[in-house]
Amino acid sequence: LAYFANIPQAPPDGILKLSVMSKADPSPEKVDLGVGAYRDDAGSPWVLPVVNKAQKRLEADPAFNHEYLAIGGLPALTGGAQSLMFGADSPAVDERRVYSIQTISGTGANMLAAVFLKQFGQPQDAAVYISKPTWGNHRSIFQTAGHEVREYRYCNYDTLGLDIDGMLADLRAAPKGQIVVLHACAHNPTGIDPTAAQWQQIADVMAERSHFPFFDCAYQGFATGDVDRDAYAVRLFVSRGFELLVAQSFAKNMGLYGERTGCLHAVTQSADLVPAVSSQLNRLSRATISTASAYGAKVAGVVLQDPALYAEWLDNMAEMSSRIKTMRDLLRDKLVALGTPGSWDHVTRQIGMFSFTGLSKPQVAALKEQYHLYMTEDGRISVAGLNSGNIDYVARSIDAVVR
Ligand code: PMP
Repeated sequence: LAYFANIPQAPPDGILKLSVMSKADPSPEKVDLGVGAYRDDAGSPWVLPVVNKAQKRLEADPAFNHEYLAIGGLPALTGGAQSLMFGADSPAVDERRVYSIQTISGTGANMLAAVFLKQFGQPQDAAVYISKPTWGNHRSIFQTAGHEVREYRYCNYDTLGLDIDGMLADLRAAPKGQIVVLHACAHNPTGIDPTAAQWQQIADVMAERSHFPFFDCAYQGFATGDVDRDAYAVRLFVSRGFELLVAQSFAKNMGLYGERTGCLHAVTQSADLVPAVSSQLNRLSRATISTASAYGAKVAGVVLQDPALYAEWLDNMAEMSSRIKTMRDLLRDKLVALGTPGSWDHVTRQIGMFSFTGLSKPQVAALKEQYHLYMTEDGRISVAGLNSGNIDYVARSIDAVVR
């Protein structure tokens, strides 16, 4: 018998499959609203101007090389990322009770957190609670690390807004001390975020039930265009005294997708806990990736450490988030103008890269087959795929399948 004979076929990844289908479609009318990557108004990938400058500066440096980074990563990145996440005047950072380690982008930070929590989670049999729905990889990552994964209610599928009562009830009903995955901002796939008051309620229940918060922050600066506002939830939980982990990605907000640049932050109750926590995170990172990717970290490090480039980066982010917001407004207005059945206000109420349109599976299939318009089966569109050249066509196509 062949060694590999008993291996079953793994299910295909929905997003990657969609991207292959879209690429293979020769239609000039094709619109790809699948993958969550920013596109400019011409529909092209965008290298942030500030990233271009940082790259030039790096490569002009005679000391530039391709040596390994240290196990914890590049201090210019991890230090800058820490201030970005917790704020330049964060008491937790001042009190030296935050440890930040560089990871393979947000996915690697999720996996490192999952492996760490499997070994050191308390209680040992704590399950991981993810929102329904959530980023498809959350379940896969936590299960791969050996966790039991359960869901809490999140999206109200009738209003396409937050089911705050369902969410709070599920977190309240869960056994004490569970691990809860929270999207820091710009929830993927729904674009639905709790309000500041709702975050307070979530923190109340989390504290009451001694749940452990794991924040996944893949879109800081992308949601509202303001990096501080987008860090509100994380900073609220830190200020309320929670110990927590935060996964941070620079894929979207710095456009460093393939460079795999990110961090995992651990906020502990006191500085004397940091040596043990950091030693274990370093050990697990060493065992899985040895050292993180250097190039993206160096680019991001230059941007985060240079005040002029940092300011320019904030402008670049504002440009991306405002273009996305304009596209949301246009799509909603066009659907309303066409008299498309249903309410479309959720398109502008939701924030970040995605809109959860409420289109049904058959409508999504019809859009793909008849109109060459690609989106995930759950009706999520990447708003960044819309532009002034395709928005009329997209609105008319949606109108046609909804009627
Ligand atoms: N978490 C969430 C919620 C995401 O949407 C993404 C990006 N799709 C990630 C993590 C990780 O992305 P990356 O590994 O490219 O940083």
